[in-house]
Amino acid sequence: MYAPLRYYIVYLISIVTRFFPLPTKTGIIRIGNPNENSPVLITCNYRLTVEILKKELKGQNLYLLVANSNGINVWCAATGGHFTNHDIISVLKTSGIAEQVDHRDYILPQLSATGIEPRIIKGKTGWNGRWGPTYANQIPNFLSKHTDFTQNQVKFQTSERIELACAWAFLMSIFFFIIIVWFSLNLAVVTFVLSWIITLTIFFTFPYYESFLKNQKKLFYFEKGKLLVELAFSMIFITLIFVMDTQLSLLTFEKYILAGLILLMVVIVVTDMKGMTPTFKSDLHEDRLFTIKIHQDQCTGIGDCELVCPRNCFEFVDEVEYITIPRIDDCVQCGACIVQCPEDALYFKNSKGEIIQADIIRKYKLNLLGKRASKACNCTVCKITT
Ligand code: SF4
Ligand code: SF4
Repeated sequence: MYAPLRYYIVYLISIVTRFFPLPTKTGIIRIGNPNENSPVLITCNYRLTVEILKKELKGQNLYLLVANSNGINVWCAATGGHFTNHDIISVLKTSGIAEQVDHRDYILPQLSATGIEPRIIKGKTGWNGRWGPTYANQIPNFLSKHTDFTQNQVKFQTSERIELACAWAFLMSIFFFIIIVWFSLNLAVVTFVLSWIITLTIFFTFPYYESFLKNQKKLFYFEKGKLLVELAFSMIFITLIFVMDTQLSLLTFEKYILAGLILLMVVIVVTDMKGMTPTFKSDLHEDRLFTIKIHQDQCTGIGDCELVCPRNCFEFVDEVEYITIPRIDDCVQCGACIVQCPEDALYFKNSKGEIIQADIIRKYKLNLLGKRASKACNCTVCKITT
């Protein structure tokens, strides 16, 4: 049941510890008064996700099935190989949900499409999966319309940017405070406050410099756009500390140390700004610089790719009866479309002509460095990825 106080406590803890897993129990949660015909929704066991769902589903009658994702949110867990077919099969078979409902249908979060394959789960359990919306607050509308959701698109809204900023600010402010406080308490306090101001400003103003961070086509770490953004933010904050000279009561050498720290903090936050947004792909690893391609002769126009793409890159063209990718520049290379295509008609290709085929995308998930090196489940019991 949704409890506001618990929700806000979990929310605050989750925001500042966002880079760390925060697991909750797996199994069935009854929302409202569900019966044998009620929908079954599956989600991950990241505590904040479960609390958000309880809040947004208030007033509904359904079963929420929490599957193991090692306490990580849906998109990160599915893309990184922590939320797999195995986890869905396991929760469907062991939670007792089969005794609660007469049907065999379940709804998956759209962002789990990078790692979960309903076709395989159907073969192993007899349960039919379909894709739900991207965001929890869209679920009531999705359920009332009894239709597939075709307008899935991740955004990077102000609230999401502030949440991410808090996670960065929390880590950086504590880290720098602990180191600097041994030398100067005043400098440590100023650095602590500045860490929060810098990080919040960089994330909050993202829409104003977004155009400088366009997805690039080839590997070039020190791209002009990123350097300009870093330079601009550094200059603003360094100027600020010199303007506020008297109020900050810093010694001359402390001001120069602080200027260096500002530069360091700006570079830390901006270096992989693209990778932190859901609207760009990271450019920190060459493996992420591939482009989505289609074998048009293999495409049957079923449209699973369109349904799961979090960037709305695809469009079905009636005249030719196959899918096209008109918004290819919006692709964040998540791989969901490749994983879900039943005809293996999609693949990644880079500027050197190297290709990553569907079987590799399904088998190897992205590790923390953005490299496709983390193996998805291949346990001998379910033989899911073999
Ligand atoms: S999922 Fe595959 S077969 Fe279906 S429309 Fe997309 S590319 Fe074509
Ligand atoms: S087109 Fe790009 S963003 Fe869309 S599902 Fe495929 S890989 Fe992901």
